[in-house]
Order: sequence, then structure tokens, then C-alpha cells
Amino acid sequence: MNFKQQVENHKAYFNTLVTRDINWRKAQLRQIKKLVQENEQEFIAALNKDLGKPKVESWITEISYVAGDVDHVLKRLNKWANSRRVSTPIVAQPGRSYIQPEPLGTVLIIGAWNYPVQLVLAPLVAAVSAGNCAIIKPSELAPATSSLLATLIPQYLDNQAFSVIEGGVEETTELLTHPFDHIMYTGNGQVARIIMAAAAKHLTPVTLELGGKSPVYIDSSADITITAQRLAWGKWMNAGQTCIAPDYVLVQKDVLPQLLTALQSQISTMFGNDPKSSDSYGRIINTRHCERIASYLDTGDIVQGGEVDINERYIAPTIVVDPALDSALMTEEIFGAILPIITIDSFSEAKAFITQRDKPLASYLFTRDKQQEYQWANEISCGNLCINDVIMFNAVPDLPFGGVGPSGMGQYSGKAGFDNFSHLKSVLKRPFLKDLPVRFAPYTKLKFKLLKLIRHL
Ligand code: NAD
Repeated sequence: MNFKQQVENHKAYFNTLVTRDINWRKAQLRQIKKLVQENEQEFIAALNKDLGKPKVESWITEISYVAGDVDHVLKRLNKWANSRRVSTPIVAQPGRSYIQPEPLGTVLIIGAWNYPVQLVLAPLVAAVSAGNCAIIKPSELAPATSSLLATLIPQYLDNQAFSVIEGGVEETTELLTHPFDHIMYTGNGQVARIIMAAAAKHLTPVTLELGGKSPVYIDSSADITITAQRLAWGKWMNAGQTCIAPDYVLVQKDVLPQLLTALQSQISTMFGNDPKSSDSYGRIINTRHCERIASYLDTGDIVQGGEVDINERYIAPTIVVDPALDSALMTEEIFGAILPIITIDSFSEAKAFITQRDKPLASYLFTRDKQQEYQWANEISCGNLCINDVIMFNAVPDLPFGGVGPSGMGQYSGKAGFDNFSHLKSVLKRPFLKDLPVRFAPYTKLKFKLLKLIRHL
């Protein structure tokens, strides 16, 4: 296993300038769309094998997500790739100033297993739109999808610019020894530290799409039925294995009974009385993660679900009320089908609860109170905020997606993705007109006075 030649080949191809051509980029983007659309059934089957993913979820969150991303980018690419004019101050006049986006080179995209198509192809769309070559490393924990991507990408895309390397820690560790021009990693914070340390050796910039505990606060002014429906959808989609899934809920005691009834009713509407036999409910990625999630069920009152079948990688949609705050359920990212609900006394207590912990990837506020909305948006730092819904900011391509602090660094989606994989080069162009002599030596008192005058014009 030695990926040196592969990285060098892509770098040499990048240097031919082919990938800078906007028409080449568009052609590759159309091929990505074709790849997911022509192989829809194969992707649905692979995702079902890896995660028991319901067909509709696979279509919405993976296949159609990537196709829609391509459409969005294609419509706007000319504008994004164009130079962006900025004003030129008097000291640099006459002159013309602009920002010229340029591709970074050969980038490494390391994906995670929970949305194993979206999490490599959406970064790839961004990297291609900016004109880069890329090596793609899908997650080995979703082997059927990883293998499908490794088969299809060479059939659809320019092989001199893109390749897939399958494998786990060993392969990724070797890959990370090479001098990429950018690394985009999606996964957990521990591995992110390894990625960043390896990148530092080559001063390679990184984008880290990480996770954490994304909190929800539900105020008594919220419409509880609508809240419960949106919350249940976002929590139990992909059996809770979504980086921006609601991790836990904070609610005042008097709202709890109504919220529980509404959530229980939503669970039975969405997944029936036996979610295990529902076509709309997925499975945990592997037995290790299933055991990890099941081990969190040792605290609080289980008021809904709680059934676990390790052999079938099944955990029922589960609600736990008032778990111990120092339990693993409340200190670790759950990334599974358990929803803890913590009762609190006030909106300020909810804010304090969140700000005392790591900055989350997402936070969710359900309220009709404008003052709460304002305070939440201004006082709670998080990667992404959704008011009165969950996850749906991800359906808005013009909203940059990414974490802050321990939940990640850098952003993508739409133009943010294009910029993430571009260097925004500053350019000032001046004509050959004779300059006023003020800035040139010898420096005199008069020139200094004039300089000060010009500076303040
Ligand atoms: P994972 O196990 O698939 O790992 C992610 C990638 O890291 C894989 O490609 C894997 O091969 C590689 N990797 C693992 N160990 C490594 C090592 N020691 N050295 C180098 N590479 C290594 O995924 P995961 O980390 O279990 O993913 C779950 C986490 O990802 C959660 O925290 C979740 O919130 C987060 N996540 C974030 C986003 C986002 O967009 N922000 C999306 C999905 C998941």
C-alpha cells in the first residue's frame, strides 16, 4: 500500500490546468448527477445493506440531495468562479481591484458512514466546482456503499483527476502522510485531532465536519403537536444516526406531559406499534455501535421504547426522562435512537445549560416568543440554528453548513463549498501612468503631510 504515485499523478494532472476550465468542471458535475441517478437502485440497495436505510430516506438524504446539489451549483458556477470586483481606495488609484478564486490543487475527502453517499459526494461537488482534483476515502464502516462508490466513480468521472481509495485506519494513515492541498474530514472529534496533526506537517488546511450534542429547547408557547412531529422525524431518521439529529430536549415541567403524549403518538404514526417491522425505520451501523447506544440506557425513566436487539442492530425509538446529567447518555454524543428529555425551570436555565457545554453543531428552539428567538440567536454559539424545526437548514443550499469550536471548522454547501475549496486570490492591477512622487523616497516633510492628507480622503 503506497499511494504516493496516485497523489503525484493527480497533482501532475492538476498542473496541466485542465481542471481550471469551467466547462470541464461542469461536465464532471453533470457526471456526478448522472452517477447517482443512473444507479439509484444500486445505492438504495447498498444503503439498505449498510444501515437498513428506508428507500425514501436514501432517496431524500443521499441520492436526490446530491443531484439537487449539482443543479444548484451548475446554475451559479459561472458567477462564483468569476473574479469579484472590490473598491480601490485613493492611495492605490488609478487601479482595479478584484478577488480571483482559484482551485487549491489535489484534495483529500474522508467520509463518515452515516450518510455514506452524501458525505463524500457533496464535498466532491464542492471540490469539483472549485476546479480541484480529489482522492475520495469513503467510510469502511459502510462497506457496501464504499465498494459501490469505488466501482462507479472511475466509470463516470475523469480518472486522471479523481480516484477512490477504500480502507480504514491503515489506509487513511498512509494517505495522510502525503502533501494534499486541502483535507476535508467528516467524522468524530478524536480522529479529527489525528487528521489535523497529520495535516500540520505539510501545513495543509483542513475542513472538519464533526458532531456533538445538538440541544433542543421547547417553550410552552410552541405548538406541541407540530413540534413533536418535526422532532420525531429528525430524531429517528436513520435511527438517530445523524450528526445534526436532536441529541436531547430541554423542556419546562408543565410542558412535559403534553410533549410526551405527542411524541408517543408520532412514533406510532410513523413507525407503527412495532417499529422493528416498519419499512420506515433503519438499523444501527454495526453491533459495536448498537452495544454502545444500548449501554446508555442505564439512567433515567424509560417512558417509550427501550427494546434492543443487538443481532438485528435494532434499537427502538426510545425516550428517557431526566437521566443523570453525568451519565454517558448526557455526556457523550448519542448518535442513536435514544432521546433524553431533561426538565428545567426556565428559558434562562435552558440557555445556561447549553452555554456551559461544548458549542454544538446545531441547536433547535421551538417558541412563539420573539424575545426568546432573539436571545437564542444572539447568545448561543452553534454551527447551525433552526427555529421551530430541526435539520431543515440542510435543505437550504445557500446556508453554509459546518460546526464551531469542538463541532468543527470550515463550512460547505453551495457557495460556501466553492469558497472552501478555493483560494481567494487578491489582485490589484495598475496602469502605467506616472505616479505622484509622494510614496517614493526620499521622504520629505511635505510628502509626509500630503500622504496624511491623501490617507484621509
Ligand atoms: P467513521 O468511523 O466512518 O470515521 C470517519 C472517517 O475517519 C472514516 O473514513 C475512517 O476511515 C476515518 N478514520 C477512522 N479512524 C481513523 C484514524 N485513526 N486515522 C485516520 N482516519 C481514521 O465515522 P465516525 O467518526 O464514527 O462518524 C460519526 C461522527 O461523525 C459523529 O460524531 C457525527 O456527529 C460526525 N458527523 C459529522 C457530520 C457533519 O457533517 N458535521 C456528518 C456525519 C457525521
